[in-house]
Amino acid sequence: MSGFDFDLFVIGGGSGGVRAGRVAASLGKKVGIAEEYRFGGTCVIRGCVPKKLFVYASQYHEHFEDAAGFGWSVGQSTFSWQKLIEAKDREIARLEGLYRKGLENNKADIFDSRAVLVDRHTVKIVKTGETFTAERIIIATGATPSMPDTLEGREYAISSNEAFHLKELPRSIVVAGAGYIAVEFANIFHGLGVETTLIYRGREILSRFDGDMRRGLHKAMEDKGIRIILEDVFTRIEKQGDGRLAATTMKGEVLIADQIMFAIGRRPNTANLGLEAAGVALDEKGGIKVDAYSRTNVPGIFALGDVTDRVQLTPVAIHEAMCFIETEYRNNPTSPDYDVIATAVFSQPEIGTVGLSEEDAARQYDELEVYRAEFRPMKATLSGRGEKMIMKLVVNAADRKVLGAHILGHDAGEMAQLLGITLKAGGTKDDFDHTMAVHPTAAEELVTMYAPSYRIRKGERV
Ligand code: FAD
Repeated sequence: MSGFDFDLFVIGGGSGGVRAGRVAASLGKKVGIAEEYRFGGTCVIRGCVPKKLFVYASQYHEHFEDAAGFGWSVGQSTFSWQKLIEAKDREIARLEGLYRKGLENNKADIFDSRAVLVDRHTVKIVKTGETFTAERIIIATGATPSMPDTLEGREYAISSNEAFHLKELPRSIVVAGAGYIAVEFANIFHGLGVETTLIYRGREILSRFDGDMRRGLHKAMEDKGIRIILEDVFTRIEKQGDGRLAATTMKGEVLIADQIMFAIGRRPNTANLGLEAAGVALDEKGGIKVDAYSRTNVPGIFALGDVTDRVQLTPVAIHEAMCFIETEYRNNPTSPDYDVIATAVFSQPEIGTVGLSEEDAARQYDELEVYRAEFRPMKATLSGRGEKMIMKLVVNAADRKVLGAHILGHDAGEMAQLLGITLKAGGTKDDFDHTMAVHPTAAEELVTMYAPSYRIRKGERV
């Protein structure tokens, strides 16, 4: 080691920070890592993992209903929010322990404290006031839910952070926003029996997703009983005498609910981090500015994950961490590859998506072939559930390359992972056509759509 206390000091023990710290330590580097809340970060403690557990919990009432069509009589069912929270908390504590153990086993020094930058090679442990020097510093402090700072009564509203720890399951909730976190929570609460409303200022939920997915999910959610209000926002929230909340909207409606939750985006955690002292620059969106190798403008200081506001997803933060390791410690300069990221929305029904939406592809390519199927999945025949699946392939007519694949329906997230490999490998529609179907599955539709449903030429549907 070259005169510093540490080879690497990581600020933030989430998806990106723990991966970078653990792997660097396993390579024999002297690593320090500080976490101000709980190791595992957003994904493990109050993001992907507890959310998916809630999604599972919220699906049971439909499973019980569907069972009747298959001959089952299911007795009276009840749900305990407290039991769900306890079980979820046990699982999260177990995972947190694994994250910590991974660092300990590789002999990283763990600091259960906030840490801030003092200068380009020095960090301060806030709890003890100690300072340490490091040859390289990674800032992996993640992001935090955006709240409507100027809205009157905003203090009565919660974000996803609090949604994981509510003492009581509300009888009614209004979720503001229409990104993936908003629609996932709207479906979770509705599935648990909560009267749920979604309000969004835009014209359709899930901007940037394929139009068929957006419209299809919107309809499915309304069919289930979720109210969706578009092109409207809150102007004021008040607490009533009975403890319930009254939110007035721009269009003059007053929505009464036990809880109001904002899921309107996440802003990078950069405040009071000592960035100014070290001279680290931010970009125009407030994220830490980095180059293709996650290097900030200050030599020796790196930033990765949500704090850089590139693509705010766990696998992306982990990938950026592994690229840092390759570049800095394995002498193999590697920049993150953001092309064709498969992703899922754990709404009900799910969305699985990879590559370009039809709308984006139409802007970039002269002629497209669109293969689209909408059908009732076999599972819904006996259950009598009226849900539909949508599958869609967006193909470049010139070279038959599949540019986008989009699925709305059961297990769409699982399918998206596999489609991600196909599209990443540059798969063509002919590859799909030559692939034998797996029968009987819903996914077989992906390889049996032989004729285009329609074409898009110069942006126009023909
Ligand atoms: P984080 O995991 O947020 O870790 C940052 C850590 O730094 C935190 O633990 C924080 O406490 C700590 N910290 C901050 N400042 C300091 C400081 N000064 N000193 C010490 N510690 C500090 N992504 C998916 O891929 N799939 C999903 O299904 C998904 N669902 C999500 C659902 C929700 C409700 C939310 C909120 C997020 C979800 N995400 C999902 C996003 C995912 O959680 C993030 O992209 C991912 O956690 C980013 O990792 P990170 O390492 O950049 O930051």
